[in-house]
Amino acid sequence: QKIIVGASVGFAMFPGHASDAESLLHNADLALYEVKSSGRNGYQLYDAEMNIRVQQRKDIVRELRTAAATDALEVHYQPVVNSDSGRPVGFEALMRWNHPAMGPIPPGIFIPIAEEAGLMTQLGAWVISRACEDLALLPPGIRMGINVSANQFRSPDLFAHIKDAIARTGIDPSRLVFEITESVLVSNADVARGLLENLRGLGAQIALDDFGTGFSALGYLQQFPITVVKIDQSFVAGMLNQKANQAVIRAIMGIGRDLDIDVVAEGVETIGQVEALQGYGCRFMQGYFFGKARPLTDVIADMALSELNDAAPKPHPERAYAIKLS
Ligand code: C2E
Ligand code: CA
Ligand code: CA
Repeated sequence: QKIIVGASVGFAMFPGHASDAESLLHNADLALYEVKSSGRNGYQLYDAEMNIRVQQRKDIVRELRTAAATDALEVHYQPVVNSDSGRPVGFEALMRWNHPAMGPIPPGIFIPIAEEAGLMTQLGAWVISRACEDLALLPPGIRMGINVSANQFRSPDLFAHIKDAIARTGIDPSRLVFEITESVLVSNADVARGLLENLRGLGAQIALDDFGTGFSALGYLQQFPITVVKIDQSFVAGMLNQKANQAVIRAIMGIGRDLDIDVVAEGVETIGQVEALQGYGCRFMQGYFFGKARPLTDVIADMALSELNDAAPKPHPERAYAIKLS
């Protein structure tokens, strides 16, 4: 085996950064931490901002623990739509944290911190339970996508927890779609395959999220029991004027067809993107064009409304979109 050794260096200088050896080393360590968290193999000089950032992280971790224990976290649901009908075929469960002082904190900020602090397994288990309970209140044809982070995926209790949530809520497991990223498959392929096969054994679907951004070894699609691929939103965002993005989307659509894997396009924001994607044979879409993630009560009210709409004479397809947007 070829072993590649790298080095990260953090340094602090006397007397500007500290007046005693212990604080000097501590500050050099903070600088080292910055290098490591920004991708390693580099060097960084200490600055006073680092202490503030570390303190903020500590605060967030402490507050997240409280939030998890006091129901200050919520799960919102974003529709995944069949663009032929404009109707949702499922929803993706997305965590929301409304901080009492700072307001809504995006999951892109707090989830990596929760991962690092070892909190994600607990938070993720809570999301699975909540999403299953909420799915039980939605029509039987509707599916639910649940994100599973890399650390969470390594937790030995994950499978038991999922089975327990299914049993408790009585939902049909084939309505669940577990969304993972390629990093899960790279880090421990054999354990990952075992767990994915167990989930497939229950009848659940497995979606490869953010497809096209990571390693994107096409072999993964054959080696692992993947049933859905989600095209990363960066390709959709750039598709109308960048040929390379169009090529990637076309290629993913082709692979999906050949391997019998459903393809969902993420981050669809405009009618132009909807039409272009339809031109590539992509039917399943998710994005602000169809709706943002919203609380369960809103989702249920929406679905009741669209059933009423269905009973009315069929509008022109473009008008159906206008109704969705309003
Ligand atoms: P993701 O799984 O790729 O989720 C899609 C993200 O794209 C969501 O961001 C969603 O709100 C956003 N999005 C959807 N449509 C559009 C659009 O048309 N335009 C744009 N610009 N964005 C759109 P969000 O909710 O901020 O979540 C960010 C990430 O946090 C998620 O990315 C996922 O990786 C993670 N996450 C969220 N909830 C959970 C959770 O319960 N568990 C785990 N493990 N991760 C979660
Ligand atoms: Ca996702
Ligand atoms: Ca995604």
